[in-house]
Amino acid sequence: MKIRLLMPAADPASPLQFTVSMLIDDHIAIDTGGLSYLGSIDAQKQVEHLFLTHSHLDHVGGLPLFLDNIFQPGLDCPDIYAGEATWQAIETDLLNDRIWPDLNRLTGDELAFYHKHILDAHRPVQVGEYQITPIPLEHVVPTLGYVIQTAQSSVLMAWDTAPFVEFESIVTSIPNLKAIFLDASFPDELQWLAERSMHNTPGRFKRMVEKVPDDVRLIATHLKPAYYDQLVEQLNGLELPNLEIACRETIYEF
Ligand SMILES: [Zn+2]
Ligand SMILES: [Zn+2]
Repeated sequence: MKIRLLMPAADPASPLQFTVSMLIDDHIAIDTGGLSYLGSIDAQKQVEHLFLTHSHLDHVGGLPLFLDNIFQPGLDCPDIYAGEATWQAIETDLLNDRIWPDLNRLTGDELAFYHKHILDAHRPVQVGEYQITPIPLEHVVPTLGYVIQTAQSSVLMAWDTAPFVEFESIVTSIPNLKAIFLDASFPDELQWLAERSMHNTPGRFKRMVEKVPDDVRLIATHLKPAYYDQLVEQLNGLELPNLEIACRETIYEF
């Protein structure tokens, strides 16, 4: 599988991760950070399956724009998957005719902007050759990470999380685990803020990955832009041979 991180910046040379989202083989996406800014409408229309982690703005803020970009009466609309609490926030706080139009009201029964799917943790969804399993993370609102598996490889993505209970069992039980995209939001000096907002620091990151084999790529994501340089220095200082900082230019192949 080929993965791209969609992390938009008005200045394309900027390494900063203002918002994060993931595109898998052009037709599956996780979160909407950069989805609605993907270069062409055709590329956005190719995304037929969108999985959301949680209701925070940097993850769902692009959803109304994405749906607006690709809507065309008579054409099929995307399947969108999220946990119940995330759906509730989207439908009451976002698509509520104030922040953005209530899309279901606009289209009525005969058309649709999206097909709604409610996820339960640990219940996998099969999308073609991909099995996608939601994993409960530790964050201030109900949040899901995802294990994405094909016959050849598996990847874990877990951003917007503090260390979470199931990390170790996933790492030891998932076959062909090739990479972990893992939260590294705040520098060690802001441990208090990481604790209150339920995110990772490099120190917590290191403790989490202690038992991860060296051949699993560790990709640090969700670095808060204001602390980017400090975070990169602290993450590199961990001296983990398999650690890399998430990069929008990289095509991750597994
Ligand atoms: Zn976030
Ligand atoms: Zn969040």
